Amino acid sequence: MRIRFLGTAAFEGIPSLFCRCGLCLKAKELGGKEIRSRTSMLLDDDLKIDFPPDTFLHMVRDGLDLERIKDLIFTHSHSDHLYAEDLVARLPGYAQSDAHPIQVYGNDAVLLRIKQTLDFNGGLQEKFVLNRLKPFERKELQTAVVVPLPASHDPIEACYVYYIEKDGKSILYGHDSGWFPEETWDWLRGKQLDLAVLECTVGKINYRQSHMNVDAVLETKQFFAENGVLKPEANIVVTHFSHNGQLSHSDLTEIFTPHGIQVAYDGMVLELP
Ligand SMILES: [Zn+2]
Ligand SMILES: [Zn+2]
Ligand SMILES: [Zn+2]
Repeated sequence: MRIRFLGTAAFEGIPSLFCRCGLCLKAKELGGKEIRSRTSMLLDDDLKIDFPPDTFLHMVRDGLDLERIKDLIFTHSHSDHLYAEDLVARLPGYAQSDAHPIQVYGNDAVLLRIKQTLDFNGGLQEKFVLNRLKPFERKELQTAVVVPLPASHDPIEACYVYYIEKDGKSILYGHDSGWFPEETWDWLRGKQLDLAVLECTVGKINYRQSHMNVDAVLETKQFFAENGVLKPEANIVVTHFSHNGQLSHSDLTEIFTPHGIQVAYDGMVLELP
């Protein structure tokens, strides 16, 4: 399976609009892996997680054919994960798109935002089908099997992290998560994942309530090791970094490489053999 890390930043991106912090200035100067757009992941070109405002950039940069997407799953409705206005671009009059509808999966807040936005433009018009997911309910999509697991990210919305089974591989897409709720830790025991994608939004800041920091990621790895959550050869990748964490790509690599954890960058491709 081919996994593309399309964007690897939190809401503000790096460099952030209007920001003159040390990391944003450094990112502008160095470019390359220091530039981070808003987070999304693509599995085998047909399953996409989240639809951020940088999707146009991702398409152009990586030469993506977004018409190959069959299933689009959402973690939550925050604007760095859902930019519904650009879904309008698939409607008649805006694109010569294929006949197949893209199956969209998410919580109530996500589906409502998409429906309201598309309703201003003539409705779904069989280009999208909206499917509501419930926590812990195993769902067979066209491209994979997914189980939404509760996150501790925003108390007014059912934010999900996802367990995904695709082509014999098991993946945890773990953000935006904060420190996982107890029922999510319990559910993960013994799952034998091939890949866990975690957030390290706030870097070394002493905070883990709605986003994870470095210590929370390392403790998560420890929990995984003690509870059979990963296969021995499994990958752990960290992503979704905020400029407020003030850690460059090389700082993050220095922190995580000794722990066997990979630091994602924009455009990174991971092959799961
Ligand atoms: Zn986010
Ligand atoms: Zn900044
Ligand atoms: Zn969020």
